[in-house]
Amino acid sequence: MNQTLLEKYAKVAVVIGANVQKNQRLIVNSSTETKELAREIAKQGYLAGAKSVDILWNDAYVSRYGYEYMSDEELTSIPEWIINRYQFYVNEGACLISIASPITGVNEGVNPQAIQKSSVAVSKAIAFFRNHTMANHTQWCVIAAPNPIWASKVFPHVPVDQAVELLWDAILKASRVTENNDPVAEWNQHNATLASHNKILNDYQFESLHFKNSVGTDVVVSLVKNHIWAGGCEHSSKGVLFNPNIPTEETFTMPHKFGVNGKVVATKPLEYQGNLIEDFYLIFKDGKVVEYGAKKNQDTLKNLLTADEGSSRLGEIALLSHDSPISNSGILFLNTLFDENASCHMALGRAYPINVQGGVNMSPEELEKVGYNQSMVHSDFMFGSACMQMVGYTFDGTEVVVFKDGNFVI
Ligand code: ZN
Ligand code: ZN
Repeated sequence: MNQTLLEKYAKVAVVIGANVQKNQRLIVNSSTETKELAREIAKQGYLAGAKSVDILWNDAYVSRYGYEYMSDEELTSIPEWIINRYQFYVNEGACLISIASPITGVNEGVNPQAIQKSSVAVSKAIAFFRNHTMANHTQWCVIAAPNPIWASKVFPHVPVDQAVELLWDAILKASRVTENNDPVAEWNQHNATLASHNKILNDYQFESLHFKNSVGTDVVVSLVKNHIWAGGCEHSSKGVLFNPNIPTEETFTMPHKFGVNGKVVATKPLEYQGNLIEDFYLIFKDGKVVEYGAKKNQDTLKNLLTADEGSSRLGEIALLSHDSPISNSGILFLNTLFDENASCHMALGRAYPINVQGGVNMSPEELEKVGYNQSMVHSDFMFGSACMQMVGYTFDGTEVVVFKDGNFVI
């Protein structure tokens, strides 16, 4: 990984991703495995005019030791000073960049109950911070960087150093960063393309979407009234443009929490709580998962579906052509940030208020009324395939073929 590319990538995160403003505070969530990128982001953040850059370091191994050795009481009590720190960031209008770098399997063999208790406690304690960012009250962005374990899982047949290089290469390509391009200009162009896709779908205002393929998916997903298809860049409530995900290829909106019926068969594994759920299906009735199964890590799937009332309902439906850059790379990244951009997907758990007109200014009760799903979790899983057919139904009963053989045809 050369310094020029690292700089360019960090600049994309700072300028296109979080779009750090002059005198704004920047928070960076980083694993100890990704310190080089975190450092470069800090530098680019200051160059963009950030008032301060705080790196919130995490280490998956240390977290594992906590699950193993801490008492239940300690695992579930979140100290006041941690909550206060997040409150400070909200008050100060800080923006956020998170570097994803999954250490797959790090929690293998750990009691899933301990992980569940701890993550529920943390989620509850800083729910106000999550709601703040999810409603786009500030700019936030998720990008990724390799670590040796992740790289070796993606490229198991080469020495680890080479695997890390290959994964860097794939991440940078997917993020539109190359030796001799202007990534910022390319991102502006890409954002314009995604915006035109959103517009076509917004103009149709479908009542429901019917997905069917030969893998076994046959499901009707109703959309909330006055839904908004989004994707690419978004506006914060203060009017600052930013890109929540790098890379991104999807256009997504809000399903109705009571309006999903049928069977969905996942086409890629789902990582949750450090475990890979493989070969799974979900059967929905009136929006809720009523039956499910997985060939591997069914317990983890159960943890996800029972995390709270909303985690067995959908919060997102996302469309993208099977013929997409990440899908065409043929690489299974084993990480949602990338794999979700290779395939149509859904998310179990909370919805995004931005996906309905006026949503960001609605109270939780008002959101509930339009069919918004509330949950502590938001977990994307892939169900798209090259054989996916999808028909949209408008409120006046018109049928429109939206997907044929895995690709957009509108
Ligand atoms: Zn998505
Ligand atoms: Zn999602």
